[in-house]
Amino acid sequence: MQSPVVILSVDWEPDKGPWKWRGIEMDYGGILCGTPAFCALLDELRIPCTWFVETSSDPSRNLPTRFADVVRQLARRDQDEIGLHIHWRRRMEDHSFVYETIDPAWVGAQLEHGVQQLNSLDLRPRAFRSGALLHIPHLPRMLDENGFTVDSSTLWGRANRLQSDKKRLQPKRLLSRVATLTHRLVGGVPDAYFPMDSDVEQPGGAATVEFPITYSLFDSSTFRRGLLCHYVKLKALMAKKTRYLTLFFHIDEVTRIGTGPDEKAEADMAIVDHFRTHLEGLKRTGARFLTCSEAREHWLRHSARASQRHLSSSTTQ
Ligand SMILES: [Zn+2]
Repeated sequence: MQSPVVILSVDWEPDKGPWKWRGIEMDYGGILCGTPAFCALLDELRIPCTWFVETSSDPSRNLPTRFADVVRQLARRDQDEIGLHIHWRRRMEDHSFVYETIDPAWVGAQLEHGVQQLNSLDLRPRAFRSGALLHIPHLPRMLDENGFTVDSSTLWGRANRLQSDKKRLQPKRLLSRVATLTHRLVGGVPDAYFPMDSDVEQPGGAATVEFPITYSLFDSSTFRRGLLCHYVKLKALMAKKTRYLTLFFHIDEVTRIGTGPDEKAEADMAIVDHFRTHLEGLKRTGARFLTCSEAREHWLRHSARASQRHLSSSTTQ
């Protein structure tokens, strides 16, 4: 039996979907009320977490300035890590929004802006996650150029694509959904990898290490998804070498739908209890909880593929 490494991560952004208070432009219930509830659980279980903090050229979504004190409090949690999260929302001349993924100059400017925003709070982000796991051409190269060393922008090694209107995600075809499920049931838990400079989905020679998301901690609360997560956990335990389970959720998901807005939101203690049970179950397997950057160090030390790459780069220097 091989104990897995667990990387627990949060997408730290304003409320969305059913968690967003109806009729208002922005709702920060998850940030204001989900954060303390989840921090209390982390402290109780003594496990670290990577916080992917959203930045944006839209001030209402630029959290290092909108909630500087809360981000500073998160940064003071020594065992945790602050990463960067960008949603690629681009305002058009008619004031509508699209998701821009293919204009390299604009994408690069968002990354630089995000790093500067966190720098202004004395933070040097090393970990990155693309909003909605959107596929960005040349993302690994751009991350490397901006000082990032670790990325988690794929689900089982796959990123999402946009429809041609740049407003909605491409729906997954039935055949592709069946192939994904089969892969998860039959294939092994995906390992970390060096992606190609140009494509985060393809293994290659980029410097940034990719940790694919394994499953959503929130989704594991449903019966069917919970069974799949349990099965994935068992597969990680049965694997011959250490597996890396990257778990994620959105901060609004620990608040109760229908409460809000902002500081009027209430923590959803049923979900917090579910998180506790699930994380304690992982702890009982002997799992080691690491931040993204710690997991990268661990992988570089223990992975044959990483050490081969290290050897070949040192012999070509
Ligand atoms: Zn997000």
